[in-house]
Amino acid sequence: MRRSYLGKLALHWCDHCHVPVLGSRCACGAETRPVPITPPGDIRPAFDADIRHINAIWGEYFGSGLIPDGHLVLLNKIPDADRMEEIILGGSVVSAIRYIADEERWEPIPRRAAAAFMQPSKQRVIVDRGAVESIRQGSSVLAPGLVGMDDGIGEGDEVFIFDEDGQCVGVGRAKAGTEDARTMQRGMIVRTRKNVPSLCIPGRASWDDAVEANRTILDRVEAEAVRFVCDVAAKNPLPANVSYSGGKDSLATLLIVRKAIGDIPLLFADTGLEFAETYRNIEEVASAYGLEVIRTGSADAFWEAFAREGPPAVDKRWCCKACKLLPVRDLITEQWGECLSFIGQRKYESFARKNSPRVWRNGVVGCQLSAAPIQHWTALHVWLYLFREHAPYNALYEQRIDRIGCYLCPSSDMAVFATIREEFPDLWADWQARLVWWQTAHDLPGEWIEKGLWRRIGESADEDSSYS
Ligand SMILES: [Zn+2]
Repeated sequence: MRRSYLGKLALHWCDHCHVPVLGSRCACGAETRPVPITPPGDIRPAFDADIRHINAIWGEYFGSGLIPDGHLVLLNKIPDADRMEEIILGGSVVSAIRYIADEERWEPIPRRAAAAFMQPSKQRVIVDRGAVESIRQGSSVLAPGLVGMDDGIGEGDEVFIFDEDGQCVGVGRAKAGTEDARTMQRGMIVRTRKNVPSLCIPGRASWDDAVEANRTILDRVEAEAVRFVCDVAAKNPLPANVSYSGGKDSLATLLIVRKAIGDIPLLFADTGLEFAETYRNIEEVASAYGLEVIRTGSADAFWEAFAREGPPAVDKRWCCKACKLLPVRDLITEQWGECLSFIGQRKYESFARKNSPRVWRNGVVGCQLSAAPIQHWTALHVWLYLFREHAPYNALYEQRIDRIGCYLCPSSDMAVFATIREEFPDLWADWQARLVWWQTAHDLPGEWIEKGLWRRIGESADEDSSYS
C-alpha cells in the first residue's frame, strides 16, 4: 500500500503510565514515543465487546485470547477489501484482524509482539537453533530448519515461529501444511512477516489514566476548537445549530459549541432508519443539556423511493439526498431562511476527507453554512474528550458498531452487516425481506443479497493492503 500520510501521526505512548498520548509529552512529565501505525490513523479505544470479539477470534485460531485484563487497547481501521483493523497493545501494533467477506469469517494476523501477551497452543512452528537468527531478521522458514509443527496447520494459515527454548522468533503465513511440511526435504514452510520494528511494553492502566495523561493536550485542542466556533459565529451572524446524528463526533462538537456560544438547538435529520439506541441517545443528550431537538424527515420518504429505485448503492446513493439533504434544506428554508450548522466532520475519518475545508456549503443545501470544529481531531481525541466530560455517548459503540448512521447504509462494510445480523436480528430480518422483494421482482441471483452485491452497482474491488 502506498499512501501519503495526513501529516504527523498523532499516536504516541507513555511507557511510564502505559497509556496512549496524543503528543510528544505526557502530563506525567515523561517523553512519549511515537507508535508506527498504518495511515490514515483514526485510532479509537477498544470497548469490552471489541476485546471479547478479538479474544474469541484469537482463541479459536491460536488456542488463547490475545488481550489480558486491565490493558488499554486501541484499534486502527486500515484500508482493505472489506474491513481490517490493527490492534495496539503495550504501545505497539501486536496484530491485525481482517474480515474475509466471502467466507464470512475473521482472520487474526499476529505480529511477534503478541507473544508478550499470550502463549499460543495451536498454529506453532518450531525451528532449529541455526535458523533462528536469520528468521529474526525476516528470512523464511525453510524445510531443513524445521524441527516441529502443530498438527492441522493448513497452507495459508497464520503461524507463530518458536525456537527450541520456547522463545517466539517470528510470525508468518504457512506456505505448506503440516502433512506436507513433515515430508519436505527443501522449500519454504513459512513466509515470515516483516514489520516495522517497534517497542512493546505491557502494563496495566485505565481510561481515566489516559484522560489524565492527555490533560494538557485535551485542554489545548478544546481551546482551539472553541476559538474556531466563536470566530465562525462572529463572522456569520446566522441562527446556529448543531447537526446531531447520535454519533460521538457530533456529541463532541456539541460540547465544544456549548462552551463557545452557549445553548443552541440540535438539528436531527431523521431518516427513519436509525438504530433504536440512536433515538434514545438523542433524547438523552437533549435532556442532559436541556436542548431543543429540531427534526426533519420521515421513514416514508425512504421506502417510497426504495419501491421505485431499489436499495441505494455506494455509487448510486440516492438515500442521502432524498432522506437527509432535501428535508434539511426545506426545513432550514422554512424555519430560518439560512443557518449556521456545526458538524462533527473530521479529516482522519478517511482519505477522502483529508482535504475537506473546515467551513463550507453543500451544493444541495446552499442555505446551510457548515463548520467543523473538530476537523483535526482523531477518534481518540474525541473519545478521551467524551470520557473527560462524562458525556452520554451512544450505547451502540459498546456493541461493536463504530459508525453511527442508518443500519442499512450501503457504505458499511460486510463486517458491520455481520455484526448487525448477530446483534440486531430483527432489524436485519426486516431489511433482508425488503431485499428479497426487490430481488424477486427483478429476477436477480441469490448472491445479489448473500454477497452484498446490492451495495455496488458497477465498481471493482477496493485497494489492496499490506497484509497479504
Ligand atoms: Zn505518563
